Amino acid sequence: MPNLLDVHTHIHFPWYDQDREEVIKRAQTAGVKMICVGTQAATSQSAIELAKKYPKDIWAAVGFHPSHLSESWHHDRKEQKEPAREKFDAEKLRRLAQDPKVVAIGECGLDYYRLAENREPQIKKQKEVFAEQIKLAQTLNKPLMMHTRPTAETDDAYEDTLEVLKENPVSVPKINHFYVGSLTITKKMLEAGFYFTFGGVITFTDAYDTILNYIPLDRILLETDAPYVAPEPYRGKRNEPAYIVETAKKLAELRGDSYEKIAETTTGTAYKIFKLSA
Ligand SMILES: [Zn+2]
Repeated sequence: MPNLLDVHTHIHFPWYDQDREEVIKRAQTAGVKMICVGTQAATSQSAIELAKKYPKDIWAAVGFHPSHLSESWHHDRKEQKEPAREKFDAEKLRRLAQDPKVVAIGECGLDYYRLAENREPQIKKQKEVFAEQIKLAQTLNKPLMMHTRPTAETDDAYEDTLEVLKENPVSVPKINHFYVGSLTITKKMLEAGFYFTFGGVITFTDAYDTILNYIPLDRILLETDAPYVAPEPYRGKRNEPAYIVETAKKLAELRGDSYEKIAETTTGTAYKIFKLSA
């Protein structure tokens, strides 16, 4: 079976402390390599440490997730054992980002989904912190791994992402992790050269079928976003990189392509844009 690359996973989170080695072994058996993605300094640091421990299988991305800036921030037990709300520290992130195991900056971006009240100052802050990370990606010549979540039924956060990038242009690859945009915004994002990642959710809803057939295969990447949103038949369980095989199968079925073609193309794209060596 061809190798797959899970471009966005969080198996360095404490949720895997009990059995991380087995999780990695199952990924190795399934032929899956991965990029562990940080959400703040602490999880960016642990992503790098894990990547150093498994240099053939794991790379790291470092960044500051926009939900850590939101007033409705809540403690995610999967992400941290104890509630410890970090402030964005550009200098700390810069130091982490320089590590050779770091192949992308993120996850970073704009999340408007849970902004109930007092939206404007929160959006302003998110845009500032996002812009800092865009500049860092460009300076270090590393791709941008973006988490973008619009207000329900809208594309607002994607529109604003395009705006912020217009003000801070980059030549590095731009990746929309866990993509949920409409067809209209997808056309704009394709023109702007974006890549799009999809995970387990495509196995249990048909909401993505049109988009998945519209986007050229060489702009699509696969991810698990583990521990979140496991694909069928593992839905509701803790997700893990080995399960990405189910998402690749579903993508093949939806597009009428062979599994081999899906695996080779998505993995080939990932190796190219993250400049990975086998
Ligand atoms: Zn994530």
